[in-house]
Amino acid sequence: MKTYMAGVKVPESEAFAYVTGHDGHYLLKRNRLFEASVRVACVPGHPEQREFFRLKVARIPMSLVRQVLSFMKGVYEAHHSEALALLTFEGGEWGVHVPSQEVSEATVKYENSERRRIVGSIHSHPGFSSEPSGTDEHDEMNFDGIHIVTAGFIPIPAAMTAFAAVNGRRFRVPIEEVVEGMDSVETSFPEEWLAKVRRRSASEPADWAADPEEERELAELSKERSLFPRGWEREDCFPY
Ligand SMILES: [Zn+2]
Repeated sequence: MKTYMAGVKVPESEAFAYVTGHDGHYLLKRNRLFEASVRVACVPGHPEQREFFRLKVARIPMSLVRQVLSFMKGVYEAHHSEALALLTFEGGEWGVHVPSQEVSEATVKYENSERRRIVGSIHSHPGFSSEPSGTDEHDEMNFDGIHIVTAGFIPIPAAMTAFAAVNGRRFRVPIEEVVEGMDSVETSFPEEWLAKVRRRSASEPADWAADPEEERELAELSKERSLFPRGWEREDCFPY
């Protein structure tokens, strides 16, 4: 079945055809009795196209993000509030523009009067989640670009969330895909590591108990596991 652009005459010989109009696809059906156009969700046989977002330039330098987070830490110390910086991309370089802003614990209002090429924003949610709020989502609807929310400050730029907004559509983007060097900042660790750490209570002996019985058992165990060549005494390896 052929596909036609709306406005183009579909030859009378075609009993079925897809017509793509300004608001979507339509199925044109004709028989001897009638001719009709019915809206359809998709056009079978057309190549698949999916929504995606991909950065075409180098990622935002970590040094720039660190500087912004330092600024946000400074604002938090001074005002106990959020803060915002706008991301710029000019002359092939990432930069920031800090607009005049009015802040409160969980809001930031700003005006951008500068003639800069603004391509996104970074703002802080000090002490709470790095997930964007409903207000953030609303603000980003008509603001194409990369929007980062940070819950933490320096030295570890952890707990940052990035979204890309394009034409009202928001994409969650892994932070390491938009900020350079994030992949090397490993802050997560296997849960079992934590389980290996036990806090000793004050009443317990200060040192690992040098229980002779336990020592002997350990020595036996060492032999069993062939840690040492046969015939060696434990003392051979561990001179006290
Ligand atoms: Zn927010």
